[in-house]
Amino acid sequence: MKWSVDIQGTLSPLKILGAFFQKPNTIAYPTVKKATATGYRGFHTNLLTDCIGCANCQDVCMNNAIDMVKTDQEYNAKNASQCIPRIDYGRCCWCSLCTDVCPPDSLKLEDDYINVTKYASDFLYMPKNKE
Ligand code: SF4
Ligand code: SF4
Repeated sequence: MKWSVDIQGTLSPLKILGAFFQKPNTIAYPTVKKATATGYRGFHTNLLTDCIGCANCQDVCMNNAIDMVKTDQEYNAKNASQCIPRIDYGRCCWCSLCTDVCPPDSLKLEDDYINVTKYASDFLYMPKNKE
């Protein structure tokens, strides 16, 4: 009986070592954040010094994703209802109708999009108070 060694077959698994010297195909999140496209619709922000509490955003939302809630943050003196919108991200489809009908343009969608949580209640989102 004659023995032979399959050199190529034996060494081929070692080719994987070359991967150590290649550029990774993944993103090193969270140290690197993937850039979003221009006009990307991420989470809402609402500049409370401009929001007048009119509830236009709530009225136009076809998914009933917005309810108006009282706030203890500093708000616009013209906000007669003393309420600001809260978004239910279990319902929102990021259509942006709510931002389109906001008279002072205080409600916006920004490029922030990562929200990891194990609590269902965290899907009720208070837009960040941001310009
Ligand atoms: S983006 Fe659309 S679905 Fe989401 S809260 Fe605004 S109007 Fe409602
Ligand atoms: S965010 Fe805009 S549309 Fe909604 S209550 Fe405030 S001012 Fe009105």
